[in-house]
Amino acid sequence: MAVSNDCLFCKIVAGLIPASPVYQDDAVTAFRDINAQAPIHILLVPNQHLASTNDLQPEHDALVGRLVRTAASLAEGEGIHHSGYRLVTNCGREGRQAVMHLHFHLLGGRHLGWPPG
Ligand code: AMP
Ligand code: ZN
Repeated sequence: MAVSNDCLFCKIVAGLIPASPVYQDDAVTAFRDINAQAPIHILLVPNQHLASTNDLQPEHDALVGRLVRTAASLAEGEGIHHSGYRLVTNCGREGRQAVMHLHFHLLGGRHLGWPPG
């Protein structure tokens, strides 16, 4: 598994930094965002270090599918799959990506604004 020693989310995946865990399997880890922007705000990350969607290769197609389907499953578990939710990934400076380990934000539990800021 490719990990980066100075990556916050790699450390959370490895259990070296405490987080509020929601789900983990051999490919995906999910935990609650420390600065929640909605009643439900879960981050889903690949266990392996990929900086952003810009790093994705064809070999990662199944991994991305796992991340997205896990998000839908967690949304169901949180009881927001019928009311609706948002799944978003920020990429790069103008996309306002702060942590350079690919992650999807699962946001829900309130009526979300659109367009995003
Ligand atoms: P982004 O701006 O898309 O890179 O989002 C990074 C997210 O990581 C932000 O929503 C932060 O609140 C969240 N975050 C930063 N540090 C932690 C942490 N230690 N545990 C959980 N979430 C975190
Ligand atoms: Zn990482």
